Parts: sequence; structure tokens; C-alpha cells
Amino acid sequence: MNRIVYVNGDYLPEADAKISVFDRGFLFADAVYEVTSVLDGRLVDFPGHLARLHRSLGALELTTPLDDAGLEEMHRELLKRNRLTEGAVYMQVTRGAADRDFAYPASSEPGLVAFTQAKALIESPTAAKGIRVISVQDIRWARRDIKTTQLLGPSMCKMIAKKAGADDAWFVEEGFVTEGTSNNAWIITADGAIVTRNLSAAILHGITRAAVMTYAEAAGMRVEERPFTIAEAQGAAEAFITSASAFVTPVVEIDGVPLGDGAPGPVTKRLRELYIAESRARAS
Ligand code: PLP
Repeated sequence: MNRIVYVNGDYLPEADAKISVFDRGFLFADAVYEVTSVLDGRLVDFPGHLARLHRSLGALELTTPLDDAGLEEMHRELLKRNRLTEGAVYMQVTRGAADRDFAYPASSEPGLVAFTQAKALIESPTAAKGIRVISVQDIRWARRDIKTTQLLGPSMCKMIAKKAGADDAWFVEEGFVTEGTSNNAWIITADGAIVTRNLSAAILHGITRAAVMTYAEAAGMRVEERPFTIAEAQGAAEAFITSASAFVTPVVEIDGVPLGDGAPGPVTKRLRELYIAESRARAS
């Protein structure tokens, strides 16, 4: 690949981009990130991603080298330099380089890197077919509301799912689904309620989750924020996941049990169309 990436103030060919071996993002996963989707060359809900970035930074007493206007300008510059019309921009803020020590350094220069990923988001094969998930124990740390780069738990569980012949895993804790490895989990009950787990430190507060809730309620659909079990999900009319890169993607099988007739359901399809139309109209 021949991308231009952003590293601490410079736009460089990806092969020339370097960070220190002492960067705490590398040594401790002492870093937070955001992934903003891109449609028609525009950013989807960038203010939402900035707000969550600040929440993550605040929880870790981290600061960013650029203010919000600078971050936005940097995103736009990356879109331009890479001629990206559909895909995502990944941005990561780290505490920067310091001699290795568990305590945060008294002073370190925060680091900022970002890059683009081209990807067909609208014409996605998984959206057409739906995905199969398996349940796994939630082995992650207890502050999943902070979007850190500490992603080995989700990565391991994604591999467990792949090896089991599934597409992804849903985490279960104390009998209830928390979320997917890199997405929020939803079900649609037989009487039409759209259910997703309530916000807490147990899950990432998805930007797509918030948007889907708003658009669904505005369209007259009933949304319930509460925990649900795998058994309830297996008996649900439909299920789906949300994330910046998956948008709304149907789930057609859970732990080997097909949902409904095993094909993406009509409410999920409608929600996906609604989400894409609203995101396109609001992207900036
Ligand atoms: N939950 C987890 C664990 C995630 O990693 C992600 C996205 O990366 C999400 C939920 C969805 O968040 P968003 O809709 O902001 O992409």
C-alpha cells in the first residue's frame, strides 16, 4: 500500500513513518483511538467521535497535541492526500515516549498518528448475507467505556470465532451479552422492540449505537436499553451489530441457532437503510 499517513505533525509515505520504541502506546497500550467512517469523501459524525475521544482522554489524564479544529483539518488533509471517498480514518493519541515505568511520566509529549483505510462500506457482502456469531466469556478489562488500543482480548476472541467457523463473537458476562468484539450487539423482539445493552463501563459507548437509537426513535420504533441473554437473542425475531465500519449489519445465527429463517430480517434492513441515508445527509 502506498498511503500518506500522519505522524506527529508530518504527512509521510507509510513506509517512512516511524515512532519511538519507548512510545507508551507501544509498551503499555497507553493510547486511545477513534475510527471515523467516510462516505462520499465526507466524515460521518465527526463531532460524536471528537466527544468520545475527549471522554477517553479525560479518563486517562491524557492530552492531544492538536485541538479539535486541528484534528478535523488533519482528517480532511488525509482524505485529500489519499483521495479517499469511502472507508475510514483511524486516529490514535498516545502518551508518547518515556523511559519504561508503570507510573505515568511527569511530562511527556503526547503522540498523534492517523491513517486512512479504503473500504466498501455500503456495498458490503456481510451486510447482504448477515454474520454468524458465537458467544464467548468476556475476558476484557473492566473499563470498556474507554476506547484504548488494548485490544488483545477482542482479537483473541475474534480468532476463536473464526476457528469455530463463525464471523464474530459476542461477549457474555454474568449471563448477559455485553457487546461484540468490535461492535455493539442488538436484538429485535417478536413484538418489535429494538433492544441493546444499557450504557455503563461494561461496553463501549458506540457512536453508531447512539445514531441508530436516534434515527429508530424518530421513525417511530421502540428502543429498549437493557441487558439480554444469548437464549433471548436466539429466540429473537432478528439481531444485528453496529459500528462505524459495519454500520448496521445483520446477525443471522447465534451459537449455531439460526434466527428466524436464517436470512437478514426486514427491520434490520430498514434500520441499515435509514442509518445510511441519515449519515449521508449529515456527513460533513
Ligand atoms: N464496541 C466495541 C468493543 C468496539 O470496538 C466498537 C468499535 O470499534 C464498537 C462497540 C462500536 O463503536 P462505534 O459505533 O463508535 O464504531
